[in-house]
Amino acid sequence: NQDEVASPSKTNEMLKKHKLVLKKSLGQNFLIDQNILHKIVAAADLDDQKGALEIGPGIGALTQQLAKAAGKVVAVEIDQRLLPILEETMQAYPNVKVIHGDVLKLSLEEIFQEFDQSTKVSVVANLPYYVTTPIVMKLLETRLPLENIVVMIQKEVALRMAAPPGGKDYGSLSIAVQYYCEPELVMIVPRTVFIPQPNVDSAVIKLKVRTKPPVEVEDELWFFEVVQACFAQRRKTISNNLLARFFTKDTRDELNGILQQCDIDPIRRGETLSLSEYARLSNALLAYKP
Ligand code: SAM
Repeated sequence: NQDEVASPSKTNEMLKKHKLVLKKSLGQNFLIDQNILHKIVAAADLDDQKGALEIGPGIGALTQQLAKAAGKVVAVEIDQRLLPILEETMQAYPNVKVIHGDVLKLSLEEIFQEFDQSTKVSVVANLPYYVTTPIVMKLLETRLPLENIVVMIQKEVALRMAAPPGGKDYGSLSIAVQYYCEPELVMIVPRTVFIPQPNVDSAVIKLKVRTKPPVEVEDELWFFEVVQACFAQRRKTISNNLLARFFTKDTRDELNGILQQCDIDPIRRGETLSLSEYARLSNALLAYKP
């Protein structure tokens, strides 16, 4: 297709025409491979009744494909210089709405108003890598009624999000993501499909958003605080990490009883506890919340 920007020649042509020097500080690595784009879009299970929210459309490589697959696309771009380019590349796609701004500062609820209430929405994006985790956490914590989140991110971060307990990749990010979603690694992506090439490997991950958490947690903030505490020093036992964070001289004798009641061995490390063990532990520790 003549108007598609995702090829090396077309992308370079657009950058030259608009005298655009890409900003590393904004994570501007543009996709130039139609094959990869099609796989990303396919993973999101879109159809013409559904909506797609894109974060960082760049010059529109992914946006064009989303416009063909979804009923409506809303794309949030921080870099003002890209707006006139997007206007040009989105000319044939009237179902795309571009919003200028920083996705970390904008109200996601307000952005969501662009979609009809009954529309099922997926987030689909090649994320700026310097803010991957804050963006994904904001999407999850806002509790938008999303169907799924399909994003290209650094390979290491994708592996951490999808990691099961027991390995070095498993940590508080795995637990936070898995509390809200079912992660699925879609593919590993080589650096060669971007202009300019990033200096890390990438992966596409699909996060199927759960309608309710898989474990019962009485106080979510506290749950995440307990998880953080257990990973504060990865080499220490959970018992030592918890003592250092939440217990005093007067209360420290109580921890072993609580762990026993939860059926969790005090000498285990944070990286071996499952989501349900963390749920049980944080519920049992609620009385020690500062
Ligand atoms: N979607 C395009 C593609 O796949 O070729 C561009 C992806 S590029 C990795 C990331 C895009 O996110 C850039 O266009 C960048 O300007 C934009 N961006 C960076 N930080 C942002 C933020 N905080 N809010 C919205 N967009 C942002």
